[in-house]
Amino acid sequence: MQAQSELKSKVKAFDCNHFIDGKYVTSNNGKTFDNINPATEEILGKVSEGGQEEIDLAVAAAKKALKGPWKKMSTSNRIAVIRRIGDIILERKDELAHLESLDTGKPLWLSNSLDIPRAAYNFHFFADYLRGLGTEAYQTDDQAINYAIRRPVGVVALINPWNLPLLLLTWKLAPCLAAGNTAVIKPAELTPMTATLLGEICRDAGVPDGVVNIVHGFGPDSAGSALTEHPDVDAISFTGETTTGKIIMQAAAKTLKRLSYELGGKNPNIIFADSDLDEVIETTLKSSFVNQGEVCMCGSRIYVERAAYDKFLEKFVEKTKEMVVGDPFDPKTKVGALISEEHYERVTSYIQLAQEEGGQILIGGKRPEGLNKGYYLEPTIIVGLDRTCRVVREEIFGPVVTIIPFDTEEEVIAQANDTHYGLSASLWTNDLRRAHRVAGQIEAGIIWVNTWFLRDLRTPFGGMKQSGIGREGGVHSFEFYSELTNICIKL
Ligand code: NAD
Repeated sequence: MQAQSELKSKVKAFDCNHFIDGKYVTSNNGKTFDNINPATEEILGKVSEGGQEEIDLAVAAAKKALKGPWKKMSTSNRIAVIRRIGDIILERKDELAHLESLDTGKPLWLSNSLDIPRAAYNFHFFADYLRGLGTEAYQTDDQAINYAIRRPVGVVALINPWNLPLLLLTWKLAPCLAAGNTAVIKPAELTPMTATLLGEICRDAGVPDGVVNIVHGFGPDSAGSALTEHPDVDAISFTGETTTGKIIMQAAAKTLKRLSYELGGKNPNIIFADSDLDEVIETTLKSSFVNQGEVCMCGSRIYVERAAYDKFLEKFVEKTKEMVVGDPFDPKTKVGALISEEHYERVTSYIQLAQEEGGQILIGGKRPEGLNKGYYLEPTIIVGLDRTCRVVREEIFGPVVTIIPFDTEEEVIAQANDTHYGLSASLWTNDLRRAHRVAGQIEAGIIWVNTWFLRDLRTPFGGMKQSGIGREGGVHSFEFYSELTNICIKL
């Protein structure tokens, strides 16, 4: 690993252009927007602003590439190319991590230890998975044999949020390519840099021109809507807000596109009194405040069994106070800057609302002293609210948690499920039977028992209710990115 000071002088932010048909291009009308560093509020560079014209070019390139060398490439070679993308990401890890932290305001150690290695692993994982992938076969008495073959769906739109930019983008792109599709990517407008570099990384790995295209721009009336409405886009994989998902579904309906949705969450973190409190506190600090609380899986609704409530609160507040908020490039920093001024205003408006709803801010709720520039907010703990309050019900997507005591299993299950979200949940207990019992009743796509964010990429990942449609991971990703055709042969 290169020394950070050396990297800081070497790695520079850059202007981000689109990547279409294997080349970097600006928008035809020359339009750009500013990319802001959330930790300093300075301009990092200009970003080409794409619209209908650039989307048309990118989709045409992706459609053409479906029939070119990409289609003719043997599966073994495709596996090798996909693995190579992962290798190059690892070779460029320090640079990519640095850029990810500049763009997002997240601590560098997090980009280095999670975002970028995981982005590389996404390609290694799906390349290896493809090698072992099979399909179904059935014999119908002695009359016929059926077997299913997998084919690409076609041109897939990959639309991404800003919180884990390269990690989430590659979580889609790797299986999309492994299944033989071509892609048009619309990165989040707030975090364009690592997505831009992914274009040349794919090219250097041997991905043919037109297979991976990247168009920058905004959502509504911009590159986003042009992409979701495009008649030659066959499927959309979207990660972002539930409200955006509803708009995209309407656009997709016009040509009945296949949809995969990973949406918002307001996840319960349920702590029973019999659990190991030190372990609970250590993990709950992460599930509450890591990545500034800007993780869809964050457990922002904490429920503690009354017998452990006071002890938990005291220790949790004490440990939260120790969390250093500040410069993403300082190794001591645990919580960096929120993504944008607009998001900062949104998160702090919930802190104001908590007070109006009768809540008590136990700690945090304000800008840390001495940090006058950048969108910094202290980790915030709120008590005294109940399930009817908006602060408890709505996704805040910042370093803000509510803590509510409970008395019975039935009561906490009802509270945990009283939401239109259903993404994930954590549950802490040393009682094995209770763990099974409660886990089986929580309405969420992913439930962790005595842990949080422990991921095995083979397992189904996704939300129920308004937190998503479909599952990603292992064979589930291939189900979305492939067309299965059944071939029935009479014997
Ligand atoms: P967002 O919905 O505002 O934007 C996501 C992407 O959609 C961006 O690229 C944006 O430009 C694009 N977009 C916006 N409007 C569009 C439109 N009308 N047509 C086409 N594209 C459009 O979300 P965000 O603020 O970037 O991300 C935060 C949200 O993402 C949170 O709700 C969070 O929970 C969710 N999220 C979910 C997961 C998951 O796995 N379930 C993971 C990360 C983030």
